Amino acid sequence: MGRPKAWLPFAGEIMLPRVVRLLRQVVSPIVVVAAPEQDIPPLPDEVRIIRDEEKGRGPLQGLAAGLTALAGTADAAYLTSCDVPFLQPAFVRRLITKPARLTYNRDALVILSMIGGVVGTELLAEAFEFAAHGDQPGAFVAAALAVPLRALFAPDVLQVAFAILWWAHIALVAAFLVYLPFSKHLHIATSFPNIWFRKLSPRGELPKMDLEDETATFGLKTLQDLGWKDVLDGFTCTECGRCQEACPAYNTGKPLNPKTMIMGIRDLAEAAEQTIDIIPNSPIVRETHGLPAPIPAGAAMAAPLVDGIMPYEAVWDCVTCGACVEACPVLIEHVDKIVGIRRNLVLEESRFPQVTQSQTAS
Ligand code: SF4
Ligand code: SF4
Repeated sequence: MGRPKAWLPFAGEIMLPRVVRLLRQVVSPIVVVAAPEQDIPPLPDEVRIIRDEEKGRGPLQGLAAGLTALAGTADAAYLTSCDVPFLQPAFVRRLITKPARLTYNRDALVILSMIGGVVGTELLAEAFEFAAHGDQPGAFVAAALAVPLRALFAPDVLQVAFAILWWAHIALVAAFLVYLPFSKHLHIATSFPNIWFRKLSPRGELPKMDLEDETATFGLKTLQDLGWKDVLDGFTCTECGRCQEACPAYNTGKPLNPKTMIMGIRDLAEAAEQTIDIIPNSPIVRETHGLPAPIPAGAAMAAPLVDGIMPYEAVWDCVTCGACVEACPVLIEHVDKIVGIRRNLVLEESRFPQVTQSQTAS
């Protein structure tokens, strides 16, 4: 291309400053390793520039120099060349910096791998298809990838590669659809109805109680006291942790965590779901595979919310500020559930902290 990679223009920027700009969003400190006399574009002051000790000893020497410069300042390092214009800060954040608010588990990695596989196989299948049969208007990325493929491979090879990649894509989509209902990624299906059926009354408004009704139960005690929208909230949680990050109680070290509370609703609901005689929980399946009998449906539905979705102390930590609700991208309603649990503890169990008792008495 006639220019060093670090100086290549891309989307109105120079390549190396662009990559540094993207990385600065998610990692610190940043070390750039260059050859002894290499000319590099201007970079922000806090970026350290390290020079290889000798010329022409390959990329491993550069990696060693960069890691040596980072020694003692970081627990993990993200290594990259400078020619990655499509670098995604979110990718680096998920794998390296890992903010405390996010939940890291195998489910998340399986989902990310499947999404990457679905998108990657479709893109490559199209590139091979275009190389074998000609471009289609508008698909400029696949068309660009098809150019070198056309030059490198015979038409037969291109067609076979297209068929393999296309069927791999179909198989991955099918596997993804089967996996989806059992994963936290179910929120891609539940988010829309959850937002559609969001609470429209003022945020602080609570359901009225008929205190004169002697048969009424008050507040939320067990799973079956939750409404369908509360359970939908549980299945819609993306585990992004924004509510946790916004919560003043959590941030001052109290046991309350609005994120785990909502995840707890989903866990209780899933446990109750195991009691329903549907595939794969039907008696026939259980008998065939020697699976243990499910817990009785009544016991599952009577699972207590206190200590089931949040500890007793946490119920009283909430200041009902609504910051969690405000921060939630899928409009989950946390406060009404916490207040509902409090109502039950106060009105049905007379169980509340000492300080509240003395305030009520005065
Ligand atoms: S309403 Fe309660 S749970 Fe939500 S952010 Fe405020 S203190 Fe935390
Ligand atoms: S902000 Fe909403 S989606 Fe994110 S973890 Fe909290 S409840 Fe779940």
